[in-house]
Amino acid sequence: MAKEFKPETLCVQAGWKPKKGDPRVLPIYQSTTFKYDTSEQMARLFDLEDSGYFYTRLQNPTNDAVAAKIAALEGGVAAMLTSSGQAANFYAIFNICQAGDHFVCSSAIYGGTFNLFAVTMKKLGIEVTFVNPDASEEEIKEAFRPNTKCLFGETISNPSLEVLDIEKFARIAHSQGVPLIVDNTFPTPINCRPFEWGADIVVHSTTKYMDGHATCVGGCIVDSGNFDWDKYADKFPGLCTPDESYHGLTYTTSFGKGAYITKATAQLMRDLGSIPSPQNSFLLNIGLETLHLRMPQHCNNAQRVAEYLESNDKVAWVNYCGLPDNKYYPLAQKYMPKGSCGVISFGLKGGRDTSIKFMDALEMVAIVTHVADARTCVLHPASHTHRQLSDEQLMEAGVRPDLIRLSIGIENADDIIEDIEQALNR
Ligand SMILES: *Cc1c(COP(=O)(O)O)cnc(C)c1O
Repeated sequence: MAKEFKPETLCVQAGWKPKKGDPRVLPIYQSTTFKYDTSEQMARLFDLEDSGYFYTRLQNPTNDAVAAKIAALEGGVAAMLTSSGQAANFYAIFNICQAGDHFVCSSAIYGGTFNLFAVTMKKLGIEVTFVNPDASEEEIKEAFRPNTKCLFGETISNPSLEVLDIEKFARIAHSQGVPLIVDNTFPTPINCRPFEWGADIVVHSTTKYMDGHATCVGGCIVDSGNFDWDKYADKFPGLCTPDESYHGLTYTTSFGKGAYITKATAQLMRDLGSIPSPQNSFLLNIGLETLHLRMPQHCNNAQRVAEYLESNDKVAWVNYCGLPDNKYYPLAQKYMPKGSCGVISFGLKGGRDTSIKFMDALEMVAIVTHVADARTCVLHPASHTHRQLSDEQLMEAGVRPDLIRLSIGIENADDIIEDIEQALNR
């Protein structure tokens, strides 16, 4: 984009650029394939000598326009959509790690990501070491090995709501010659742009606030273009040495700052195929058009509800980084001065059983396995997502047995508080 637009404008205008007579609204290119006039034209695409569409598993104009919008919002050079946040996290790591490699990860991450990294990637021969994100730089550096290829963390962790010190993590990663990958799902680029603090790659579950309406599971990987792969060419042979599956082409030489996303598309999408449907990308784009309007409403409502809960004597504790007495308030103020996200966790006096009774008494607020959409919803990890664990195991996993996760929507805060109040009184 020639002009540097502000985030609000990018939400509406970035991505789809219609030419004379084109549809004003991003069209759904619901086509698996694309037509060419000569065999030679098609052959050049297969050799990555020309850019162009030929098969939707590799690239599709609807998907690409939405990826370009998210890249613009994050301030990155290139992006790729995936069919889920899980696929985005897997590709982000697998693009630079292979069997025999290792990476370091904050222990405060989403449960699905934890399983992917600790169990499934281990089966592929890739090992992870989890570190306490609040530990000192020296302690975290001790987890690095000669075969370590990246450092990973979540800006705000789901569901423990810990705020990552992005600058500290970037310093550690860069001192070890590896990139920092940040999952920025909860704040979205409206509230935090990790590249401005030194992150190299950002991943998203677009399923959450970006879609915002709980319609489509999806993910995205964005590259800042800032990491100098060639400087550490021995660590990243996949990017810096010839790819035999593309006639000996070297990604960093041929694509410069586009190397990481081009490799992820040309190798991982080609071989693993977790593409979003163009229909889903169209819906994601509609969601993105109002992201800048919805995020402040989520945050303002969450702040009101958190303050209400904190002042209620039936409530034992409240965890929300917008509360001044929260452990992560200073980091939240630094990295997310406009607001963090709409997710709160809290516990009731009386513990686990009282939490269940409270949730059943809610009328408007629904019990669902989801966070971060327009409707306020609630989940009790001890009875739902983590129900196989004993109270002791729950505490080890950082999930208190009485923890209620409340995802505040964009309704009127008075109505949300009224529903919570009537449920507490019952
Ligand atoms: C939900 C979530 C994911 C997984 O995304 P899916 O779209 O459900 O596959 C990854 N990271 C975070 C922080 C999430 O909240």
